[in-house]
Amino acid sequence: MKHQGSCHCHSVKFEIESNLEKIVQCNCSICIRRNAKMIMIPKENFKLLEGSKDLSLYQFNTDIAKHFFCKKCGIYTHHNRKSDPNGMGVNLGCIEDIDPMEFKAIKFDGKKL
Ligand SMILES: [Zn+2]
Repeated sequence: MKHQGSCHCHSVKFEIESNLEKIVQCNCSICIRRNAKMIMIPKENFKLLEGSKDLSLYQFNTDIAKHFFCKKCGIYTHHNRKSDPNGMGVNLGCIEDIDPMEFKAIKFDGKKL
């Protein structure tokens, strides 16, 4: 199923294809601070519709993972994963047609990686 997503100021808009089943929260150094529930999807199921110029990229350590956020409103939208090069994490709170509070996330032990 397709879902629309956006950052807070709507500069960044995207679409994902997902059944919204793989919801995780990760305890690595960046995720624990960001504290977002994330949907894990294959990266081909993510399509950026608008706002490539408004996205900022944050990288650290190995520079493998790519963490994207809107440079206007600061909201984390998605990231390319380090542990799965074909995988992407998407901020559940950015998805427009659902209630993120209703989803239970499973713990991903990213701290150990
Ligand atoms: Zn924004």
